[in-house]
Amino acid sequence: MVDILVIAAHPDDAEMSMGGSILLFKKKGFKVGVVDLTNGEPTPFGTVKKRLVERDRASKTLGIDERITLELPNRELQPSLEARRALAEVIRQLRPTILFGHGRLDAHPDHMAASQIIQAARFAAKLTKTDMKGKPHYPSKLYYHQANHLRVVIKPAFVLDVSPFFEKKLKACACYRSQFHTKDRQAWLKKRLTEMAAYNGSLIGCSYGEAFYCDETVGLSDISGLAEFSAGGSGKQRMADIEAWQREGR
Ligand SMILES: [Zn+2]
Repeated sequence: MVDILVIAAHPDDAEMSMGGSILLFKKKGFKVGVVDLTNGEPTPFGTVKKRLVERDRASKTLGIDERITLELPNRELQPSLEARRALAEVIRQLRPTILFGHGRLDAHPDHMAASQIIQAARFAAKLTKTDMKGKPHYPSKLYYHQANHLRVVIKPAFVLDVSPFFEKKLKACACYRSQFHTKDRQAWLKKRLTEMAAYNGSLIGCSYGEAFYCDETVGLSDISGLAEFSAGGSGKQRMADIEAWQREGR
C-alpha cells in the first residue's frame, strides 16, 4: 500500500522528472511507490541486469517504498489491453490516492503510449465483476510529471519547491551510469536537470522546482501552500529583504 504512485515508461524517468518531489513526499511522511512499465532495455550501453542494479541504487537514494518494474516491451510500448490490465492490477494492489504519470504531449512513443495506458488503467482499476487481481480501487487524482522528450514549455498546474532535495535528486539520477556513460554525458545530464529545475523554480520564486500538469482542477483544503509563495520570490524571503532595507534606512 502506498499514498502516492509514480508511473513511468522507463527506469530513470521517475527520478529525472520528479526525484526531488519524491524526496519531499518522503520527508512529509507519505509512502511512495514507483512503477516502471518497461525495464528500459535494450539501450546502447545498458543490459537488463545493469539497469535493474541502477534502479535499485536510485530507489534507495530516494527512499522509495515500493518499486515494481513490469515486463512490457521497451521501445514498442503500446496502449494494449494487456498493458492496461497489468498496470490496473498494480494500482489495485498498491491502492494509491494520487497518481503521477506521463502527459499526452511528448516526442517519445513509449511515453505517449504510457500516458494512454495510465489513464486507462486508472479507470479499469475500479471495475467490479472482473477476473483482475485485487479489489477495486480508484486513485482520486492524476497529475502529469515532466518526463518529456519534446522541447516545449507547458504552463504547469503547479510547481513544487524541491530546493532542499535537489542535490540528492542529482545523485539518484547519476545512478543510471549505463545511460550516461561518459563524463560529457554526465555533465550534460546535470546541466539539463539544473536548468530545468532552475526555470521551474523561477516561476515560483525558489531555487529549484519540479513542474506538474493536470486535466482536472487542483483542489486545496487550506491555503497554507498558497500563502507560502508570492510572485517574484517566496513571501518569507521578500519580507526579510524589506525588513533588512528598513533597518538600513532605505
Ligand atoms: Zn523514458
